[in-house]
Amino acid sequence: MNRSTALTRLRSESFDLLVVGGGITGAGVALDAAARGLRVALVERADFASGTSSKSSKLIHGGLRYLQQGDIALVYEALYERQRLLRNAPHLVRTLPFMIPVLTKESVVSRKIARALGSALWMYDLTGGWRVGKLHRRLRAKTALAHMPTMKAETLASAYLYFDAEADDARLTLAVIRSAVERGAAVANYCSVTKLNKDAAGRITGASVSTHEGETFDISARVVVNATGVWGDSMRRMDVGGDSVTIRPAKGIHITVPWELVRNDIAVVIPVPGDKRSLFVVPHMPNGDGTFRYTYVGTTDTDYQGSIDDPQCTPEDIDYCLRALNKAIAGSGRSLTRDDVVGTWAGLRPLVATEDGGAAKGRTADLSRRHKVMVSDSGMVTITGGKLTTYRKMAEHTVDEVLKLIGRRGRCTTKRLDLFGATSRDRDDHLVSRFGTEAAALRRLISDDPSLGKPLVPGLPYLRAEAVYSARHEMVVTLDDLLSRRTRGLLYDRDASVRAAREVAQLIAPELGWDASRVEHEVRHFEDVCNREVAAAR
Ligand SMILES: Cc1cc2nc3c(=O)[nH]c(=O)nc-3n(C[C@H](O)[C@H](O)[C@H](O)COP(=O)(O)OP(=O)(O)OC[C@H]3O[C@@H](n4cnc5c(N)ncnc54)[C@H](O)[C@@H]3O)c2cc1C
Repeated sequence: MNRSTALTRLRSESFDLLVVGGGITGAGVALDAAARGLRVALVERADFASGTSSKSSKLIHGGLRYLQQGDIALVYEALYERQRLLRNAPHLVRTLPFMIPVLTKESVVSRKIARALGSALWMYDLTGGWRVGKLHRRLRAKTALAHMPTMKAETLASAYLYFDAEADDARLTLAVIRSAVERGAAVANYCSVTKLNKDAAGRITGASVSTHEGETFDISARVVVNATGVWGDSMRRMDVGGDSVTIRPAKGIHITVPWELVRNDIAVVIPVPGDKRSLFVVPHMPNGDGTFRYTYVGTTDTDYQGSIDDPQCTPEDIDYCLRALNKAIAGSGRSLTRDDVVGTWAGLRPLVATEDGGAAKGRTADLSRRHKVMVSDSGMVTITGGKLTTYRKMAEHTVDEVLKLIGRRGRCTTKRLDLFGATSRDRDDHLVSRFGTEAAALRRLISDDPSLGKPLVPGLPYLRAEAVYSARHEMVVTLDDLLSRRTRGLLYDRDASVRAAREVAQLIAPELGWDASRVEHEVRHFEDVCNREVAAAR
């Protein structure tokens, strides 16, 4: 993961395919292709996972909701992929219990709703939920209340418990990228495709790119894969011109609040008053004694018309989540306000518009999460839609198309391919849960310099050694990369992260060759990112 080596290779070598986009989709394609023996390049215009792939709900799941929408094939596929991820990245992906409370209305339990929920969960288990080794079950009200004591006891009739999984989306993306690099892929962040290059017959021969430092050069590749998520239409325009719309961005936000205000020890699904939707309330950062540091709540699902480069969480978005949360924790005797929100994040789903390419109508929440692979006349393969959970399958379909274009054969090998750092040992250890087998390298850093064992951001579990390791081995280019994605400080405690920003920048400055003015620039830039979030949420 050395950026200057990668840039040298990108300038000089010829590749079978160039993947554009370093989110989970592009990362998955690069890994699948490299594992099949292709010569692979990947460029990302900003940081890896800086688009949607760091802003998801962080669930590796089938999606009970999609079952209710009748999309059994999608749920089946996703639950299969969930199992593969639990096996291939056991350090990053872990099982997460979910509770759906059955509430009374004017002291009456709707038998219809309870029965419908029970049937849906049986379907979920049968569709593949069972693979995790645990089936759903009914909980008595008292047990349900013990899982979230802030719920109002009088309105709680019982609950259902079922199982899914969770993962840090940005670190998962990075692990997939590092797995591709391990297999020979040349990968660089802060390197943006500005133009597609074609031969006289109109076939793609590569792309022109421009780096963060202002350098421009051409990358030679037989096929270009467009894995740019919500930016996919701008790549299509580089290819075929015109202004057709194939992607309908749907915004989703999350808010983080201190855990002690909610006190749920498992994820809970809560209804949104006056809407047909529900939200996840997910406890985060365990303290090791059954308590947690934070709970995050999300997600919304709304049509989005703003700039796709900078989706933000608005006051209305926050109030939507708080309204549902306050109704759910009515038993705590205290309503949460915007002042209790310590972090927010907003992302855009790259949903596929209608079959004919026109913009779909209706609620974005009702649009399919399926993916779609398209091949243009010039040979650009576009992969769009899908989910974090199904990235491996999406990559398999995409690389199958790439092989057809270049006239080669090769079977997909990622079904049982350990991701970078994969280990099942000591998974509850903080460093192992984030770096897997690389935790040993971090421990060595700490034993050489015990000051690196101290917290990076006071109040958060990250250590100073993580910053040094990430700067050396994880292609950190900006301070924001480190505080938003290598660690997740911005998402869970924005103010604490801003307060620590200068010290963190000074810590990694020698690793990245930053002088005092660059440190200043990085701190300012990170403060700007935070200030924009605060202003949008006001
Ligand atoms: C709120 C929300 C919650 C979600 N929750 C879940 C969940 O819990 N579970 C789940 O399975 N899925 C979830 N999803 C879906 C999942 O997050 C997305 O499907 C996935 O992250 C999309 O990844 P991507 O790589 O296609 O797009 P992105 O992550 O956006 O990556 C595209 C990349 O392309 C880069 N790029 C763009 N143009 C160029 C260019 N010209 N040159 C180089 N690079 C370029 C961008 O910078 C970007 O990094 C959620 C989505 C949202 C929005």
